[in-house]
Amino acid sequence: METERHSDPHDVFAWIDDSTRRRDRAGLTRRVQVRGPRPNVIDFGGNDYLGLTRHPDVVHAVADASLTWGAGSTGSRLATGTTEVHVELERELAEFTGAEAALVFSSGYLANLGAVTVLARPGTLIASDAFNHASLIDGYRLSGADVIDTEHADPQALERVLAAREQQRAVAVTESVFSVDGDLVDLRAVLDVCRRQGAGLLVDDAHGFGVIGERGEGAVTAAGLAGSPDVVTTITLSKSLGAQGGAVIGPRRVVDHVMNMARSFLFDTGLAPASAAGALAALRVLRAEPDRPARTRAVAVALAERLTAAGLPVTEAQAAVVSVRGPSAAQTAQWAENCLADGVKVACFRPPSVPDRFSRIRLTSRADLTEAEIDRAIDVVVKHSPW
Ligand code: PMP
Repeated sequence: METERHSDPHDVFAWIDDSTRRRDRAGLTRRVQVRGPRPNVIDFGGNDYLGLTRHPDVVHAVADASLTWGAGSTGSRLATGTTEVHVELERELAEFTGAEAALVFSSGYLANLGAVTVLARPGTLIASDAFNHASLIDGYRLSGADVIDTEHADPQALERVLAAREQQRAVAVTESVFSVDGDLVDLRAVLDVCRRQGAGLLVDDAHGFGVIGERGEGAVTAAGLAGSPDVVTTITLSKSLGAQGGAVIGPRRVVDHVMNMARSFLFDTGLAPASAAGALAALRVLRAEPDRPARTRAVAVALAERLTAAGLPVTEAQAAVVSVRGPSAAQTAQWAENCLADGVKVACFRPPSVPDRFSRIRLTSRADLTEAEIDRAIDVVVKHSPW
């Protein structure tokens, strides 16, 4: 669309107003929703899947680490930003997932940027699931690699793309549990394709780690891929572990390479020790209480079944994510707002955060939700449905 000419030549950012008007008209303007420390709404919008962000062990570990180490890590990980807590967390993440090594980043976003840019470079083909997260896509852009989007969660489509390539090096990139619809990909089938076609595999297990698998060990480990020399996993510490940060997990030589080469690791201040301590304490709670992941999955299944029974277009619920499609971006946003006004917080996904043109509300399950809270959420979501 043509930008209007503005009369004041000194108003150099006047074009932003045009862009804002277009976004407003399309119903795509976002606003920050500020919450208080003890919200009087039931939270079905966050990613605290195991209900650990306020667990006493976790918050005490955060407080103790703050008193011991201070508020920040003081420098990049290779300068002054690595504490004993970071090293311990990396050791336990590797041990829990059955991988050789792990490297902690200050967010999952930066872990993805780091992993992608180190595994792919100009002349590499990235075969990317069409619904992959923005942090992976931003990594592709930084890497300078060739990128082909492959049909969502379709190993055969991936095989066709890899088999037809001209590039010698290739890496397939996929999420394990997709963040918007909560569906899973068959990782074993994807790895078989990669092996036949001589490609590496990078899996973003942000929504699988802590939720999938008998012990919550994540989708990669649950699929029997842990310890594979050709598989690299990224996770976030901000969802099931209720803290903050991210990690690259995989073969030692890859992790060492990431540590030396990933610019989002090298030039970023290390994760705050308190966040690392929070994630470590949460990981230990998960190990001590292995029924939390099963409870999270059961709550998601119950939500999906009951919303489906009420006639709503629910996607899938194999992990903690339950998505319901809305008729339009504006109506979906209104749906989420009405739920909030009625005491139930759900997330709203609109373009450009959705992989297709369908906006959705998304409910996330939590291990510590009560039956009464689940009943209330179902009532409110159904009552305000625009369908
Ligand atoms: N990957 C996926 C699939 C995600 O959903 C997210 C978080 N929205 C990230 C990566 C980024 O993780 P973080 O929030 O820790 O930066």
